[in-house]
Amino acid sequence: MELPRIITELPGPRARAVIERDSQVVSPSYTRRYPLVARKGQGAIIEDVDGNRFLDFTAGIAVVATGHCHPRVVDAIQRQAARLIHMSGTDFYYEEMADLAEKLAAIAPGGGARRVYFGNSGTEAVEAAMKLARHATGREKFIAFYGAFHGRTMGSLSLTASRQIQKKGFGTLLGGVYHAPFANPYRSGKAPAECAAEALNYIEDTLFRMVLPPHEVAAIVVEPIQGESGYVVPPPEFLSGLREIVDRNGILLIADEVQSGMGRTGRWWACEHFDLAPDIITVAKGISSGMPLSATIARAEIMQWAPGAHASTFGGNPVSIAAALETIALLEGGMIANAARMGRHLMDRFRSWPERYPHVGDVRGIGLMIGIEIVKDQKSRERAPELREQIGDLAFERGLVLLGAGPNSLRLSPPLCITEEQADFAADTLEECLRITSRT
Ligand code: PLP
Repeated sequence: MELPRIITELPGPRARAVIERDSQVVSPSYTRRYPLVARKGQGAIIEDVDGNRFLDFTAGIAVVATGHCHPRVVDAIQRQAARLIHMSGTDFYYEEMADLAEKLAAIAPGGGARRVYFGNSGTEAVEAAMKLARHATGREKFIAFYGAFHGRTMGSLSLTASRQIQKKGFGTLLGGVYHAPFANPYRSGKAPAECAAEALNYIEDTLFRMVLPPHEVAAIVVEPIQGESGYVVPPPEFLSGLREIVDRNGILLIADEVQSGMGRTGRWWACEHFDLAPDIITVAKGISSGMPLSATIARAEIMQWAPGAHASTFGGNPVSIAAALETIALLEGGMIANAARMGRHLMDRFRSWPERYPHVGDVRGIGLMIGIEIVKDQKSRERAPELREQIGDLAFERGLVLLGAGPNSLRLSPPLCITEEQADFAADTLEECLRITSRT
């Protein structure tokens, strides 16, 4: 199961039947972009109910870091499920929770003693980080960034500023959350240092001077590489400048690595590419190859809350933890290095695309976190969301599954185990799609 194979029209008959049933009973709030009804997966290949095989360049939204159903992860899950499925780390101990906390504390960016809180999803990791920041500082307010996605529960949704549909109709969210521009080099059109300075100035010259006393701010929450807004890589000066702002004002820095973490960028954390040492980091998605698990990792002196202050019945489930420990072993055992290698290989192929294809405005990313921004034309840089969708559809028909990110970017976030042959298939397919759209 190395490369795609499309054997029916899409969707095939079985897929159509499932989609019809699903449409009657499942919440319509999900954004299913493709009629892909998954039945099984192996590595970077996903097979649908009609036997069509696709190359999964989404990894189930950047989740299956070690690929679908890696035999070692499956084995770890099965062995743990046969031994102990649940006991609740909220009220009892089990060895695996200490094992994983030790491991995460050891690999967390910045060094020093760390403590770890376990949840089940990215949004829970962010909620925990927000509560912890308030608890540790005695301050109430937060700064987040336009374009940010931090989750959909009420606290994390207050930080999220990605698409208004995510907030529409849900009423007043958490008070005291302020948004600032994220340093986006392509969109600003300025030199990186200038782009960073402009974004940082907004915090100090506008927010702090006019509306937000800095000593009331508990934390600045930032994705080191913005995920849902299009895999936007900021200039390093932006993140180092944020660190300086928080240090000057007794504010905590929360790095949301839910999407960028766990080796996706070719290092454990995106923060490492910028020498950024956050006070708290949030981790989920890739941590356990598809089992629900998240972690909020904080400097030990910050995570000083009393028993009962925060907990979750399922958080740190033993089966999810077993999957995480095996995932980490596989990532360390070569998959992070593969992500770096395959990321370089893909970027070598993509680098010239803005010169060769009129609709490719920008290609950016680190490791296997690559965004391709689709525009009407190079000069105007006008966003082309419909064209992005058209390219995604053409790729899907050819057996390559991609997700969009932001209004007009394609997101490439394959499992970290992809082979060079699979990377080339994805690049060849995308080129074919771009050639088709260039002609129209
Ligand atoms: N934070 C970031 C950076 C994310 O990309 C996401 C999900 O895409 C979340 C938080 C929320 O994670 P979840 O959907 O697991 O709640």
